[in-house]
Amino acid sequence: MENRIPEDRKRILDSLFEAFSIVAEGTYVYLCDMRYDFSRWSKTAVDSFGLPSEYMYGAGEIWEEHIHPEDRDTYHASIDAIFKGEDGGHDMQYRARRQSGEYDVCTCKGVVLTDAEGKPEYFGGAIRNHGMHGNVDALTGLRNQYGFFEDLHNHIVKNTEVNICMFGINGFTQVNEMYGYNFGNRVLQKFGRYLLEYVGNHGSVYRMDGTKYAVISRTQTTEEMIRNYDALREYYHKGIVVDGKLLILDLSAGLLHLDNFDVDDQTAYSCLNFAYGESKIRRQGELVEFYNDLTDENRDRLEKLQVIRNSIVQAYQGFFLLYQPVVSAKSEKVIGAEALIRWRNEEYGMVPPDHFIPILERDPLFINLGRWILKTAMEDAKKILADYPNFVINVNLSYAQLEKPDFVDMVLELLSETGFPAEHLCLEITERCRLLDMTLLKNIFVNLQARGIKFALDDFGTGFSSMGIVKELNFDTIKIDRSFVQNIEADKRERELVGFFTGVADTFGAKVCVEGIETCEMKTILQQYPVTSFQGYYYSKPIPLEQFIAAL
Ligand code: C2E
Ligand code: CA
Ligand code: CA
Repeated sequence: MENRIPEDRKRILDSLFEAFSIVAEGTYVYLCDMRYDFSRWSKTAVDSFGLPSEYMYGAGEIWEEHIHPEDRDTYHASIDAIFKGEDGGHDMQYRARRQSGEYDVCTCKGVVLTDAEGKPEYFGGAIRNHGMHGNVDALTGLRNQYGFFEDLHNHIVKNTEVNICMFGINGFTQVNEMYGYNFGNRVLQKFGRYLLEYVGNHGSVYRMDGTKYAVISRTQTTEEMIRNYDALREYYHKGIVVDGKLLILDLSAGLLHLDNFDVDDQTAYSCLNFAYGESKIRRQGELVEFYNDLTDENRDRLEKLQVIRNSIVQAYQGFFLLYQPVVSAKSEKVIGAEALIRWRNEEYGMVPPDHFIPILERDPLFINLGRWILKTAMEDAKKILADYPNFVINVNLSYAQLEKPDFVDMVLELLSETGFPAEHLCLEITERCRLLDMTLLKNIFVNLQARGIKFALDDFGTGFSSMGIVKELNFDTIKIDRSFVQNIEADKRERELVGFFTGVADTFGAKVCVEGIETCEMKTILQQYPVTSFQGYYYSKPIPLEQFIAAL
């Protein structure tokens, strides 16, 4: 160090500090003249943390004293690298001790300004104190979901490209059940700490709900994040020791590269959550990246989802239901219909459900859309019932709807609101519901079936455990997926499978509906099996209500 700072350099420091303070509103600002290691810090920081003065020599070391012992090494390494000229700045998270002795979680972002020769001259930045905003998870000390959304929002507003990764520990209930809640908590803390160390100053770590964590990074590339996740996954797969017990943990992860700033934080989160769910359900924990390619309309997929998502809030503008007839296998007369959702607007045209349902079904807003679908279908079906008293309307449900504690009440409320007779409503669910608590599902079935509502198992045979769920729940109908009958005319194995499936249905006293009947030959073959009803393009594609009524 060259000695004490001359007056003119102090004046420069002060004016630069003022400039920094203007842009970094709501945070603590620090600026260091690296040549003299002389810094100025915000008065608010000095007061909150009990620092010696606004002006300090060796502020880095003084500040380090305030940093939580567990976070100190990472901080020290980062400052060291900056002063040695090896690093151009940092973006990190640590806990800092207030004057009162409590720790606040802080995120600290700083940059190095170099002189004309490229030597580090100033180091300045801003520290955001999250502890003061209640954005901290009490268990792990990490920023919580509110903090996550706050930061995500800021990145979007400032157009900073980031990679966002969401991690989760699978099957954590077992850990709690086996070793108790306190032990489980320590595992979660340890996981949080490990992530924090692991991510270092490459990004911020958050604890989301339950056993989910997230990382937002501006510096790591997608490839780096994938590589890091694989290493992390392997580390936990080998087993960690907590309180002397060896624990093997399975992880899942989803990734979103955010480079479109016209979307809001909720839409981005939905897409991230979707990728995470896919990793967990379909990919055995392999990292799944949300594939934000351009859509058929040559638009960003995230943006399209955002428009669709916003329509839910705007009185479901653009959403409508189509109806596909369900016919009796014997008489081939219409006995019911399945309601199928569509969305349309001028810009994107007609969008089929598989472009938005799988992504939005984990979105909190989906609950509203699900209710709207049920209500609209009941209102429409009531018009048909007036002339066709045996008509049954089938409505698709997402597992996220069933998870809501007030699901049964919601359905009953809609029945009385619309005056729709319960016996004419059939709810279709898929095997994916096995992810929900079985006791909860059984309760829903018992309650609603007592009122006369029917349940169908959709897409039978396509999931991992179609058989398991048929055994557990009392379905009125099993719908055989069209993938099993597509080649039934030529493929003997498909005929054998249909024989097997109808046998299963019979064992559990359920009726059978076959989907995807496209030709006369298909239906003739299938009529030889104990099948109750058919659905398919051979009879009709999904059509609007008016057309459906006219065709009847
Ligand atoms: P799903 O419930 O299995 O619906 C049957 C799908 O098969 C419909 O596609 C229908 O148009 C199509 N389909 C019917 N007959 C034939 C045929 O003979 N050949 C062929 N190739 N396809 C046929 P859609 O309407 O595109 O719906 C796709 C999926 O989106 C549905 O599969 C369902 O999982 C979901 N979905 C649709 N509407 C809703 C809804 O209101 N709520 C929820 N949660 N999901 C919905
Ligand atoms: Ca269906
Ligand atoms: Ca189906």
